[in-house]
Amino acid sequence: MDENFLLQTETAQKLYHNHAAKMPIFDYHCHINPQDIAENKQFENITQVWLYGDHYKWRGMRTNGIDEKYCTGDASDWEKFEKWAETVPYTLRNPLFHWTHLELQRFFGIDKILSPATAKEIWDECNAKLQTPEYSVRNIIRMANVHTICTTDDPVDSLEHHRQIKDDNFEVAVLPAWRPDKAMAVENVTEFNEYMNKLSDVAEMEINSFEELIAALDKRHQFFHDNGCRLSDHGLETILAEDYTAGEIKYIFERVRGGDELTHESVLKFKSAMLFEFGIMDHSRGWTQQFHIGALRNNNTRMIEKIGPDTGFDSIGDFEIARPLSKLLDRLNSENRLCKTILYNLNPRDNELFATMIGNFQEGSVPGKIQFGSGWWFLDQKDGMERQINTLSNLGLLSRFVGMLTDSRSFLSYPRHEYFRRTLCNLIGTDVENGEIPNDMQLLGKMVENICFNNAKEYFNF
Ligand SMILES: [Zn+2]
Repeated sequence: MDENFLLQTETAQKLYHNHAAKMPIFDYHCHINPQDIAENKQFENITQVWLYGDHYKWRGMRTNGIDEKYCTGDASDWEKFEKWAETVPYTLRNPLFHWTHLELQRFFGIDKILSPATAKEIWDECNAKLQTPEYSVRNIIRMANVHTICTTDDPVDSLEHHRQIKDDNFEVAVLPAWRPDKAMAVENVTEFNEYMNKLSDVAEMEINSFEELIAALDKRHQFFHDNGCRLSDHGLETILAEDYTAGEIKYIFERVRGGDELTHESVLKFKSAMLFEFGIMDHSRGWTQQFHIGALRNNNTRMIEKIGPDTGFDSIGDFEIARPLSKLLDRLNSENRLCKTILYNLNPRDNELFATMIGNFQEGSVPGKIQFGSGWWFLDQKDGMERQINTLSNLGLLSRFVGMLTDSRSFLSYPRHEYFRRTLCNLIGTDVENGEIPNDMQLLGKMVENICFNNAKEYFNF
């Protein structure tokens, strides 16, 4: 993992060092907590940054036979770190090995391999640094040369932290992104109604009809817009695009708002209507919509009951994707209200499906209007990135790609952009040395700089 890590040819090295490395980071989708940036949080130790919220590491540790006590349980921070250090040598060929050591190198200047033998000295060195002002959350973000961050926020969120960050004149743009999953989760009647009450409070209006629901959400959408948001995101097993009538949706909403359980068919119809309405809202304010599709979540009932959802018990699903996805995009497009859209698949079998789907709805308004998103979650490793980049190259225009995002909960995960950039430069470099694309560094350098940063900056238009 020296300076030419993953760069197998001289062209790849030139492309990375002269063009990719200098570009700032445009992290247009992540899950870091804006409150930590607003308060410019200082971490006490490396476990707090690395292990408190990272289900990738928990999965690795569990697979290595480590007791849950050291993953999400009540073991001390040192004990958790020790167990992670014990696991790291077993992560060879898993991206966790590369991420861990890139983060140690880039942020802490540590070149050693984390293992039981080095655990104590690495713990001490990282913690000593983390406790200095140079390692406050804002300074970590500065260290990584980040230009823009988009967090993930609920329509009922106050966005107070985003406003505080802006008022402080922090030079990195920290913008909210609209994630309204709960506003369509009608399968759980009690939770949905509690959420409706919250939404009603923050929107300062009654919500007793579908029309009022849309009006309240639109009010919040405008509020997000006024706070710099230009981006939405939906986490879905698959896209829903059932047929429905306005009368049916009106009736379904009244039923659920009155506390009645809905039939499966009604749930699907309601969600289909909501996705369409959200698409219209995003289009009306010139936003980009993102769809993260294909996760089969919370599979382990015993563990979910013990420690809650989103704790590392998710995997790849095999839902029907193409037909409903096409139908929703076509519905919006038929009314001339399809906004810029990024589609992320979790199942790699769907790479070609997604890469061809985006071609159906491209048009002259903006280059790469419909995007095939970067390798996500289980696919954001070297092989997954290479496959996404190659599929997009074969079936679309790689040069118009808006590139990588961290999709992370950790402030130390920015080297994932570096990992992506090295992988990208390596693929292009190999093509050049094989004589498949011209050795024109002006053309290729520009292409790399655009995919690393410029394309995203122009596309999102924040
Ligand atoms: Zn995400």
